[in-house]
Amino acid sequence: MNCPFCDEEIKDSALVCKHCGRDLSVLRPVLDRFTAIEARLASVETALQTLSGHVDDVRSKETVPPRPARRLTADVALLAPALLLIALLLAAHWVIIATFDLNTWVLRLVSILLPLPFGLLGPRSVTATVAMAVTVAVTAVWGMLAITGTIDHVPVLPDNLHDWIETTEYAVSIALAFATGHLLRGLWRSRRSSNDSKDSLVYEIATLLAKSSAPKNETRVHAKLRAENIASWLNYLALIVTAACSIATGIGKFFPGLGKFLP
Ligand SMILES: [Zn+2]
Repeated sequence: MNCPFCDEEIKDSALVCKHCGRDLSVLRPVLDRFTAIEARLASVETALQTLSGHVDDVRSKETVPPRPARRLTADVALLAPALLLIALLLAAHWVIIATFDLNTWVLRLVSILLPLPFGLLGPRSVTATVAMAVTVAVTAVWGMLAITGTIDHVPVLPDNLHDWIETTEYAVSIALAFATGHLLRGLWRSRRSSNDSKDSLVYEIATLLAKSSAPKNETRVHAKLRAENIASWLNYLALIVTAACSIATGIGKFFPGLGKFLP
């Protein structure tokens, strides 16, 4: 240390400065306290730095990574398979009806089978699935009507309620076939990894059902397991109902369909 009076180097334990000869005995305890406090302060600062480093680590792990800015790419990625499916449906219509003049139910069956793999491999979100299913169904059916209308020189759009209902049922069957594919995918994913299916609408509904029917003092783990179980059953149910509706509305020649309620 240095003497507080003459600033010359002296021993840490010196009670008298050997350079200026001043008495350090009164000052010594105060200086010692200062040194001790400095040392403690330094250790507290180090500990604080380590702690704040830990807090930052935990925070960075907790924060959800920002959604990648790939909305536009995602939209384009949805458009390509949608256009392909529409083209395939129109081609099927062309081959089955215009070229080979087969029975309409062949087309209706193909129209159910074609959208299935597209729904299976299609978008993950429910909104995108519904949008894609409706767009494909409406565009494809309108395209078929337009082709038939142009070839046969008849009005493109149906001119009576019965034909409108039949056309709508056909479009609904295509959309539902697409939805069936989507539900199959959800089921397959929930079998493979339960984390992947957490953002589905079915899982949200299942969570609500699990919460509303929760027994007292149910643990979070139990509630989660029950929600997953309910989601799995809902998925099966939705799958069966959607597939059945698709077939029922699609192959209307086998089933009377809604048209029978008309005079
Ligand atoms: Zn001195």
